[in-house]
Amino acid sequence: MKPAPKIGGLVPFSSCDYPGELACVVFLAGCPWRCGYCHNPHLQAREQHDAAPQWDEILIWLKTRRGLLDAVVFSGGEPLIEPQLPEMMHAVKALGFKIGLHSGGSYPKRLQECLPYLDWVGFDIKSDFMLYEKVTAVTGSGAVASASLKLLLAGKVALECRSTIHPSLHSEDELIHLAQILSKAGVQRYVLQSFRPAGCIEPALINSAQLHFPQPATLAAIEQQFASFEFVPTLVA
Ligand code: SF4
Repeated sequence: MKPAPKIGGLVPFSSCDYPGELACVVFLAGCPWRCGYCHNPHLQAREQHDAAPQWDEILIWLKTRRGLLDAVVFSGGEPLIEPQLPEMMHAVKALGFKIGLHSGGSYPKRLQECLPYLDWVGFDIKSDFMLYEKVTAVTGSGAVASASLKLLLAGKVALECRSTIHPSLHSEDELIHLAQILSKAGVQRYVLQSFRPAGCIEPALINSAQLHFPQPATLAAIEQQFASFEFVPTLVA
């Protein structure tokens, strides 16, 4: 018998985790990367959370949400770490919900298995793929993320790429270069989000955050690469 999926939490209602749809968010526990700016460090360990429902309980509850919710979003941590994710998506799809995924793409083989079920993906881009290790602290992370992005683009899944940026992790030139890489690859929508101190456990990152990063000229150079671009600034207290 397979072990139960490891659930880190459930948000029963969200209007901001799947563009234009009312969704619930299932957080899967575990992540192979260790980004210093992670604002969900409690979801990095691969363990069922005591306060979270079991997956079979969530499925029973979802049956009562038909007609009330449009979509189920799988988030994390890194949801692709869960070996049963394709089966979970199959079960959710059978109930009539759309499926969203928040992922950094650390398991391209599992992403490929999930592709037939995906309606929308929010894909976390850490940096230029050659520089991933600086953010994730894991060797080879850029290669698997790049492979996953290629799968998503080839699979023609509705896609939003998003990057959390910090002046200690990204230079302005690197951000422009990254935008060029993504644009050339075929990414249409890109969101840059400033580092948020909430949840971050690295004081050095919190102390070196800058209010005016990146500069307007950098944002303008990035914006012109995409059909749709958004910058989400965060005020640093
Ligand atoms: S990939 Fe996401 S969940 Fe994993 S450590 Fe980085 S920010 Fe946190």
